[in-house]
Amino acid sequence: MHEMSLAISIVELVSEKAQAAGAQKVTAIELEVGRFSGLMAEALVFCFEAAARNTPAEGAELVIYEIDGLGNCLGCGHSFAVDSLLSQCPKCGGYAVETVQGKELKLVSLTVDE
Ligand SMILES: [Zn+2]
Repeated sequence: MHEMSLAISIVELVSEKAQAAGAQKVTAIELEVGRFSGLMAEALVFCFEAAARNTPAEGAELVIYEIDGLGNCLGCGHSFAVDSLLSQCPKCGGYAVETVQGKELKLVSLTVDE
């Protein structure tokens, strides 16, 4: 299960950061998850809660921001919103579209309790 291994990585990462900051507890974590990342936010929250047990991240609020897709046409350079990984450029009709946004997975912020 992809979400579970990811949840464990997040817990490890934030626990390390909390420790480095001299904090006892992580209270909130904000993540940016692209809509093409293949991750389900609900599953990720569920796995996170399980993975965080008995760690400084236990009980932390996990906030997930879904990032919309953005494509860039390699033919004409036009940028536009995309809702699938196979999109047609609305300007020139080309299919050589690079997805420049929507696949990310990023830790945006971390709130710790000292
Ligand atoms: Zn184009």
